[in-house]
Amino acid sequence: MTGEFPTRYGGCMELSQLPYFETDDKGQLVARGEDVGEVIDFHTHLGLTFAVAPKLNLRLKTPRVDYMLPYDHPFDLEEYSARSFSPKAAKKVVSEYLRCAWSSSGFVHTHTIPNILCDMDRMGVTHSVLHAVDLPGLSDNTGNFLRAADGERRLAVFGSVHPYSIGVERKVMRMIKLGAVGMKMHPAEQLYTAANKRAYRIYELCDHYRLPILFHTGASDIAPKWQKDLPAIRHFRNPVREFPNLIFIFGHAGIHQYEEAIELASKHENIYLEVSGQPPHRIKKMIDGMGSERLLFGSDWPFYAIELPLAKALIATEGMPEVRRKILAENAKRLMGVIYGEKSPF
Ligand SMILES: [Zn+2]
Repeated sequence: MTGEFPTRYGGCMELSQLPYFETDDKGQLVARGEDVGEVIDFHTHLGLTFAVAPKLNLRLKTPRVDYMLPYDHPFDLEEYSARSFSPKAAKKVVSEYLRCAWSSSGFVHTHTIPNILCDMDRMGVTHSVLHAVDLPGLSDNTGNFLRAADGERRLAVFGSVHPYSIGVERKVMRMIKLGAVGMKMHPAEQLYTAANKRAYRIYELCDHYRLPILFHTGASDIAPKWQKDLPAIRHFRNPVREFPNLIFIFGHAGIHQYEEAIELASKHENIYLEVSGQPPHRIKKMIDGMGSERLLFGSDWPFYAIELPLAKALIATEGMPEVRRKILAENAKRLMGVIYGEKSPF
């Protein structure tokens, strides 16, 4: 039990046992608006494809979404979400990842704009931030996301420019022109650390153009061993000090290095922790350790259906309505508002 709630569920539908959700007349799980309030999801993705994969149709509506953690897969709310994968489900994720280098079918073809909007509606999410990830010369997910999301007021896009790509400054300018409002960096998948000198070039540009950066931080349970040190929190110690005006958002709040993330964030006001995957007891530690002003809700959709991380954030903030409002929506609005003023997408 986590407080008054059970922690183990046989799948997402069983979350209807929690007071925050109910089943609608179509048999789908929906959030109870009056109990949940406004939600902004700061960490989501559309389908990512690479290398020789044919261009993905991001405007396609499909009958269902293939989440990386299947909708009916059991989980424990008090665990980091990636811990819930059975060996079989983890193997499937790896094969889907590899497949998107040559194919746009499979899971990835369901990770589209109409599908995320549908899930946002079910869960009462007003706005989502989509994060692209690109590899030099091997993909243009940034361009695809931005063109597909053009005109969608509820979706903001953080683009991706690989520090080792040619013409870094030109690429940053291009993504801003296409409408990007931030930068996504993924040290584990893009193969560098936050302390890399070429990554510093990206920080300089983001600092100059006032783009916040969301990093993947911490080693996921299902990541290969050789990737595990790349997104470690210690690599951020110098950059966050050397760029005091640049906003560093630690995606997944450092995963299992969340304590180190809290410690660093309590020293540097320019760090935000985005809590996707983190269980309620750890989110509570973040609230206690650094306050609730710089915590952001994120789901990591389509890795997980939104209801799974949302349940965790709601349980963590049970009995603290003010803190809940901040984490689920107010902090995201303030962050984007401060940077964009009138032009804020939120
Ligand atoms: Zn991500």
